[in-house]
Amino acid sequence: MRLILLGPPGAGKGTQAKNLVEKHGIVQLSTGDMLRAAAAAGTPVGLRAKEIMARGELVPDDVVVAIVADRIAQPDAKNGFILDGFPRTVPQAEALDRMLHEKKLDLDAVIELKVEEGILLKRIEKRINEMAARGEPVRVDDTPEALHKRLEAYRAQTAPLIAFYAGKGALQTVDGMVGVADVARAIDGVLGLGGGQAPPAGGRASEGRPGVIAKT
Ligand code: AMP
Repeated sequence: MRLILLGPPGAGKGTQAKNLVEKHGIVQLSTGDMLRAAAAAGTPVGLRAKEIMARGELVPDDVVVAIVADRIAQPDAKNGFILDGFPRTVPQAEALDRMLHEKKLDLDAVIELKVEEGILLKRIEKRINEMAARGEPVRVDDTPEALHKRLEAYRAQTAPLIAFYAGKGALQTVDGMVGVADVARAIDGVLGLGGGQAPPAGGRASEGRPGVIAKT
């Protein structure tokens, strides 16, 4: 199974990706995690990315595309993967199309987690508190200034991907405002894995599947 999770920072992509990894034994490919690992390792790419990430801006497409191309070629990605945080621009999505085409692979679904912007800041504050409580280092871009930039980058550069994938008939929109377990059930529903009941979504129901707003 090969999936893309789309949504603004704080939408719950990472949480849902981890859930899917546990349930379906596929790998989570988070470009944010890969870039943070490269920064921590002090590689030239990592050091270049580190400052950009701290400002809440997007790392250049060529850098991220190269990282993903390497990663999906690794043996553990053979059974499938969830892309979390990639693609984030239309050129990245086009590069991904080319990569998959060359490998004769298809995407099974592009899932948008739809959330109201007003709650994102609250969710990220919660993430900061939880990480601090676990004694984990807080992300340098989890600050109000960087978050503002990250949301701006999402609106300007990533939101157009919704139309990009809708145009291909590949987009599934899930209500990301409900609880973690309900979002997970709605995603299972989208994937045809027999999700249970989720509360009514904020939009129109799609093919009677709970929590699924629409397939476009
Ligand atoms: P994330 O962990 O997905 O929130 O990503 C954290 C940061 O890593 C982003 O704010 C960007 O600076 C950088 N980043 C992650 N994925 C990408 C991507 N696909 N394209 C460009 N920059 C990215």
